[in-house]
Amino acid sequence: MTTASETPISVTRTERPSPRPEDGSLAFGKVFTDHMFLMDYEEGKGWHDPRVVPYEPLVMDPATSVLHYGQAIFDGLKAFRGKDGRIRLFRAQRHAERLNKSARALCIPEMDADLIRRSFEAIVAADADWVPRKEGTSLYIRPTVIARDVMLGVHPAHRYTYFVICSPVGAYYKEGVKPVRILATDTHVRAVQGGLGEAKTAANYAASLSAQQEAERAGYTQVLWLDGVERKYIDEVGTMNIMMQIGDEIITPPLAGTILDGVTRNSALQLLRDWGHTVSERRISIDEVMEAGRQGTLREMWGTGTAAVVSPVGELGYKGEKLVVGNGHTGLLTQKLYDSIVGIQYGTAPDAHGWTSVVPVPVAA
Ligand SMILES: *Cc1c(COP(=O)(O)O)cnc(C)c1O
Repeated sequence: MTTASETPISVTRTERPSPRPEDGSLAFGKVFTDHMFLMDYEEGKGWHDPRVVPYEPLVMDPATSVLHYGQAIFDGLKAFRGKDGRIRLFRAQRHAERLNKSARALCIPEMDADLIRRSFEAIVAADADWVPRKEGTSLYIRPTVIARDVMLGVHPAHRYTYFVICSPVGAYYKEGVKPVRILATDTHVRAVQGGLGEAKTAANYAASLSAQQEAERAGYTQVLWLDGVERKYIDEVGTMNIMMQIGDEIITPPLAGTILDGVTRNSALQLLRDWGHTVSERRISIDEVMEAGRQGTLREMWGTGTAAVVSPVGELGYKGEKLVVGNGHTGLLTQKLYDSIVGIQYGTAPDAHGWTSVVPVPVAA
């Protein structure tokens, strides 16, 4: 018997490779690599047929359940080409485990976490040439699971497709880390206790769009989400976790049912603790933050996520009041976190926690 961690992954290479874009012209998620990873699930048969195949459209019946009821999950991680030429994944196993956590929340059958991690390695190895070289660039990896029943009844599906696609992406900050302006909303909520806030699922993104549009119309970049019950406690910012430093305390909302367990959040907290900082995972109200801002004790505020690593907050709007954070500049701690995480990702700083794994790439003959 083969266990899932030994299941062979078949590879069918494309006969028509696409031209690769210039590293300097890359945006986010617009161009995709030559291959994709696929695996199917059928009740009774389980997950089967893991394979790398040429990138192509998925053909779907219009009655396919995911198109109607959104039973879909995803994750997002990156592969980095180091100065030493080696390609590294950042915390691949943790991303694999989180995909399974999202699966449980959406009644999707879990996969073997090791096989998920191997799917990341297999697709990156197949498209290794697509991992860009220019400083700050990376290959974004998007694993996704969708429900494939063809019928309109509302229930967990009996068939699923797991796919992984990859997109070479440009440097998030082309001219250095840049602060954003965020608007706390008390008219929209992202998630509630007992809902889907802890899962990376399409529904949460659909639910975020109108608030995001309103924030943009008011001249802000991102929405600061407050809790869904009292609309008082801070949850997340846009699609990032939020952290701040008030006096000597570093504060981030706890993983208590409504926020996503970000890999970057976890990494940042670990580094901050390594450096001897006091870190509190506790509830913090928007009023406490606004008051700290007025008193001058709110030193730094930043979001964390795979796309940007850290995103400093330069201005916070709430109920018509505007708070400038850190004179609108990137704080020292925010910058240190950014430099440290990026250094580990590109293999230029020691990886004390073993967060990166080198992708075994077959050497071209
Ligand atoms: C993906 C995501 C994050 C950030 O998670 P990372 O693992 O750090 O990329 C934070 N909040 C939400 C809602 C997300 O979807």
